Amino acid sequence: MRITYDCDVLVIGGGIVGLSTAYAITRAAPGTRVTVLEKEPGPARHQTGRNSGVIHSGIYYRPGSLKARYAVRGAAEMVKFCAEYGIPHAVTGKLIVATDRAELPRLHALVQRGRENGIPVRELGASQIAEYEPEVRGLAAIHVGTTGICDFVAVARQLAHGSGAEIRYGTRVVRVDRRPELGVAVLTASGDVVRGRVLVNCAGLQCDEIARLTGDDPDMRIVPFRGEYYELARPELVRGLVYPVPDPAFPFLGVHLTRGIDGGVHVGPNAVPALAREGYGWGTVRPRELGSTLAWPGSWRIARRHWRYGAGELRRSLSKRAFTEAVGRLLPGVSEDDLVPTAAGVRAQAVLRDGTLVDDFLIREGPRTVHVLNAPSPAATASLPIGREVARRALSAL
Ligand SMILES: Cc1cc2nc3c(=O)[nH]c(=O)nc-3n(C[C@H](O)[C@H](O)[C@H](O)COP(=O)(O)OP(=O)(O)OC[C@H]3O[C@@H](n4cnc5c(N)ncnc54)[C@H](O)[C@@H]3O)c2cc1C
Repeated sequence: MRITYDCDVLVIGGGIVGLSTAYAITRAAPGTRVTVLEKEPGPARHQTGRNSGVIHSGIYYRPGSLKARYAVRGAAEMVKFCAEYGIPHAVTGKLIVATDRAELPRLHALVQRGRENGIPVRELGASQIAEYEPEVRGLAAIHVGTTGICDFVAVARQLAHGSGAEIRYGTRVVRVDRRPELGVAVLTASGDVVRGRVLVNCAGLQCDEIARLTGDDPDMRIVPFRGEYYELARPELVRGLVYPVPDPAFPFLGVHLTRGIDGGVHVGPNAVPALAREGYGWGTVRPRELGSTLAWPGSWRIARRHWRYGAGELRRSLSKRAFTEAVGRLLPGVSEDDLVPTAAGVRAQAVLRDGTLVDDFLIREGPRTVHVLNAPSPAATASLPIGREVARRALSAL
């Protein structure tokens, strides 16, 4: 049987990971025909366009993990990519500040981890914090030199442009028909069929659903965690990036203060369960999606294991005063009036059946298919190496 393919590699998802994959494929194998299908009218409308905009150094991640390797390499590459294409960015450095004695051992462990990952770290006593951030208080801190900020939406646009791929916006994939000996045909919401030899699933918040449409059992579910942000009305209170010491039980970094490339300071994100995959506020509820989250045993196991942490996050989501108090531990001069609500983001966090929050990036293959099943922070920072790895796997499946 002779089949006409519309492309060699069909990528679902026009976020930074899908676009970086398309970019890497056309660089590694010029002439390969790549089509990206994105349901929104433009690139980067979900996680990629709703994050903290931080180029992470890689300090937090277990040495040897994909996150550590790709973040360290990816941060340097991201700075170079931005410089090459005139994309707004800056290498600002950042502070991680301990405000409680119980956090001191974890701060020291981070210093160690940073050194293992080859990241320059300076340890600071309480009085030295003011050298960097006069309004910030803490018992001790570390300064990480290689952290930066950039405009990830502009990066995604440049990757789309530079990839030479055909990018079809406003194209939602609703069905997948995969024949291991032939290739993949997808049906779009408008009734078109697009055929490719290999499928790459970079659907972010919907990646587990796309995996299931191909017939693969991903053995995980995306549990969406919303991160809410405020804008600081007095941005002069913060010079750069200020983070708390993260709780190692969670893959989230805690509410931080980040001066973005536009000069504004964002405060957030917290981590609360979203009631829809794209649930950017408490008012957005999608019963089918919520039902699928609740039907996953892992969701209940997280709730049982981490209810105390979750209750604190919920309280800080529902009460601005509670949120302000939490921020005040780092920045005592902040008041409720200084915090102006701004757009939230939702993290696509993979959760296993036993309730494990998948920590590392997770890339899986099926016949003629590559699935990116866990690409939370720092995947925007690490998007160039991730894209190359996904591209390598897709090209070897051709
Ligand atoms: C609150 C928050 C803060 C963060 N802060 C940082 C940070 O400071 N630094 C950092 O490095 N990372 C950060 N991250 C993580 C980073 O944003 C993500 O890791 C990265 O954007 C993931 O990119 P993606 O392409 O996988 O997903 P996305 O950007 O979500 O893209 C997936 C795309 O798939 C499309 N799609 C889904 N289903 C379909 C379908 N059926 N058909 C067609 N298209 C479909 C969606 O519309 C979407 O555009 C943060 C994330 C959040 C949420």
